[in-house]
Amino acid sequence: MTQGFDTLQIHAGTAPDPATGARQVPIYQTTAYVFRDADHAAALFDLREVGYIYSRLTNPTVSALANRIAALEGGAGAVCVSSGHAAQIMALFPLMGPGLNIVASTRLYGGTITQFSQTIRRFGWSAKFVDFDDTAALEAAIDGNTRAVFCESISNPGGYVTDLPEVARIADAAGVPLIVDNTLASPYLCRPIEHGATLVVHSTTKYLTGNGTVTGGVIVDSGKFDWSASDKFPSLSAPEPAYHGLKFHEALGPMAFTFHSIAVGLRDLGMTMNPQGAHYTLMGIETLSLRMEKHVANARAVADWLERDPRVDYVTYAGLPSSPWHERAERLCPKGAGALFTFAVKGGYDPCVKFVDALKLFSHVANLGDTRSLVIHSASTTHRQLTPEQQEKAGAGPGVVRLSIGIEDPADLIADLDQALATACG
Ligand SMILES: *Cc1c(COP(=O)(O)O)cnc(C)c1O
Repeated sequence: MTQGFDTLQIHAGTAPDPATGARQVPIYQTTAYVFRDADHAAALFDLREVGYIYSRLTNPTVSALANRIAALEGGAGAVCVSSGHAAQIMALFPLMGPGLNIVASTRLYGGTITQFSQTIRRFGWSAKFVDFDDTAALEAAIDGNTRAVFCESISNPGGYVTDLPEVARIADAAGVPLIVDNTLASPYLCRPIEHGATLVVHSTTKYLTGNGTVTGGVIVDSGKFDWSASDKFPSLSAPEPAYHGLKFHEALGPMAFTFHSIAVGLRDLGMTMNPQGAHYTLMGIETLSLRMEKHVANARAVADWLERDPRVDYVTYAGLPSSPWHERAERLCPKGAGALFTFAVKGGYDPCVKFVDALKLFSHVANLGDTRSLVIHSASTTHRQLTPEQQEKAGAGPGVVRLSIGIEDPADLIADLDQALATACG
């Protein structure tokens, strides 16, 4: 990283608009771009020259955002897509094929567990779920058909922190890329590529946008994986039949994954981010570090208070010294363990639901990473499609409430939690 994070979050990927001098990134609300002549058009389609063709593939506003996030994550390139879930499919798409599998952590966002355990099977892909703290089980789960290892840096909803360097070592030894969902940490708190990740995915819907306005996703490629080291990744290393036989890795080196994701992934799957959405996320990203500092300070204050409250069974926040993942959080996320955690209300399901209904300042929504503080009862919502066993494993049992701590005054947040606990447990 040449410049500091606070500088990059404002300047990376952008320059004053060459056409007008506009200082802020314009919203290029256009579907297509005029070719200079027929040769120019052909060069663009051949990827001999980089430029804009059609906004399903690339758009200047969306590209500015992709380049900014790539800089913040320390990646070679990035592709923005329509949602976090789209980013996960797009990350797997160049790697996978029928009969192939991924090995994924049991501790994931509930929607991701459903996407990986059910939906990807329609493509002939499958996922094996393993506790990533059991490194022997992780090693054993990777087989000849495994094409990726997938985990979250800080995991939703349990406040678990993955030992990224150890998991990266195992993925490396097996010759497969490690994909890390860095949504909950944001690149301000954790940069997975520095810990060995090949690809980083985000739901930009959350902290990167930061104000609950638009859905979006991004895939950042480290540019460091050798796709040609084995015959496991023919879409990248061998002639790609879906792109007139281009050998992406040979032709594009560290940008192979990024170009494949645009030229084949966005072209044929069409999970494109729109320029208006990219604009909102660009606005949000300018204050990412300021917001994350405040999110983390507030989360720590609220978690400290809850942990000492007799109406609370336990709090799972890696920022608390009592957490089994505290040491790991200090090592991998030294600026803070994020602002999402769970706690258990004494008495289980009934008081838990009463507590959620009694909150006034916290909003009951299926979202996280907003400036506003949010609450959800995971077992009856985001983790509802999971079996009770999967819920427990994901840290979303029946008595568990998930909080996404915003950037309000911490005293007001604590006062709201206090009155709602009084109602629930009174
Ligand atoms: C929200 C979320 C997703 C899915 O992102 P969408 O933008 O809602 O599609 C994936 N992973 C994590 C960790 C999330 O929090």
